[in-house]
Amino acid sequence: MDHLVVGVLGGGQLGRMLVEAAHRLNIQVAVLDSENAPAKQINLVASDKHITGSFAKAADVQKLARNCDVLTYEIEHVDTKVLQELDEEKPFVEGTQSWSRIQPSWATVRTIQDKFLQKQHFAKFDIATAQSIAVGTSEPQGLKEIADRLGYPFMLKSRTEAYDGRGNYPVKSVSEIEAALAALSNRPLYAEKWAHFRIELAVMVIKTNQEASLDSWESNTLAYPTVETIHEDSICKLVYVPPRGVSRKLAKAAQVLARRAVSTFAGTGVFGVELFLLDDDSLVVNEIAPRPHNSGHYTIEACHMSQYEAQIRAVLPKLSKTILPGSTDLVAPAAIMLNVLGGPEPDSHLLVADAALTIPGAKVHLYGKGDGRPGRKMGHITILGQSMSEVETKIHPLINIVDSIRA
Ligand code: ATP
Ligand code: MG
Ligand code: MG
Repeated sequence: MDHLVVGVLGGGQLGRMLVEAAHRLNIQVAVLDSENAPAKQINLVASDKHITGSFAKAADVQKLARNCDVLTYEIEHVDTKVLQELDEEKPFVEGTQSWSRIQPSWATVRTIQDKFLQKQHFAKFDIATAQSIAVGTSEPQGLKEIADRLGYPFMLKSRTEAYDGRGNYPVKSVSEIEAALAALSNRPLYAEKWAHFRIELAVMVIKTNQEASLDSWESNTLAYPTVETIHEDSICKLVYVPPRGVSRKLAKAAQVLARRAVSTFAGTGVFGVELFLLDDDSLVVNEIAPRPHNSGHYTIEACHMSQYEAQIRAVLPKLSKTILPGSTDLVAPAAIMLNVLGGPEPDSHLLVADAALTIPGAKVHLYGKGDGRPGRKMGHITILGQSMSEVETKIHPLINIVDSIRA
């Protein structure tokens, strides 16, 4: 029981950082992804348990399940039908009374992976989100009628397979309707009311009980600090902790909303909750990820327990009980995380990493993805400090390099 093997669907950078945290606890992680995926490169100890294949392919997921005790995720675009079958076949971890082998639940991932179903789910629990309408037609006229209800601008979104804004099309006026439908053709769509946000926030939440129960959000969830996220071209660029210009009261309200939202889903693990803080200081949920999240990378250096350690512990029956209040606390008053994206040359991103290495205290993470491409997440940098202005000053030259690579 002490050395259960955790299987992870997906082996990108999130899986890689999950492996780092697991190694420290002497827990093995078996990875399902392509050969030499980032998470496999640093995980030779479990090399006989990794599966080469796809988390969206049933046969490959079954193979992974045979090699591990508990299955979890680093991506939500997985085959949930086979996870449901595995759950029905053998529901519990051997030697436990009732600990599910799939954490968080496949049902949770099924709801979350379709953004429109996710929105409907939140509506059921009175969790505030932007108004959303399913688009059941590829005819411009049909979308015009929906747009009349939402107003302009609005966001046309793919219901599935979306990440880094790929799957979103902001529609500013009626003249852009046809282009939007063409850009997202052959994908299931929905339309979302524009959120006039003042700032984007995010909260990582740990869930330690398997049941979905809004009533128990206080006893069964734990929030990391509220952070500010800055997106450029719909890709996360920077994360600021604590959020700048946001009162403690609002930051606390964001944590409560995030914990309530996560408590409505079954299964244990970590969840990334993206929020909009609107002009009138109200908060709405943008979307939830049932896994570690880009906005939580900072926790590796800035909190007592990282989001990755939290996921490993939360999905295991014994260790989930050891996640105590206080473990998500910051170890420094301020932190900034900067994403390192690919640029025009295959190794453009190394300019940022090399410059960061000359800054004392800057922590450089490179993901081992090979050649960079514009917009591809290649690594990140975290800097801690005694005040936000100190960290802003330290990171400023790196932001300049990021901007010059992009320009
Ligand atoms: P990821 O999963 O990588 O966070 P995604 O592809 O799922 O991204 P969203 O989170 O839906 O995309 O949107 C990306 C960004 O686009 C948001 O962080 C926000 O900046 C902007 N955005 C999304 N929806 C809206 C909206 N309704 N109104 C205004 N801006 C929006
Ligand atoms: Mg998303
Ligand atoms: Mg998002």
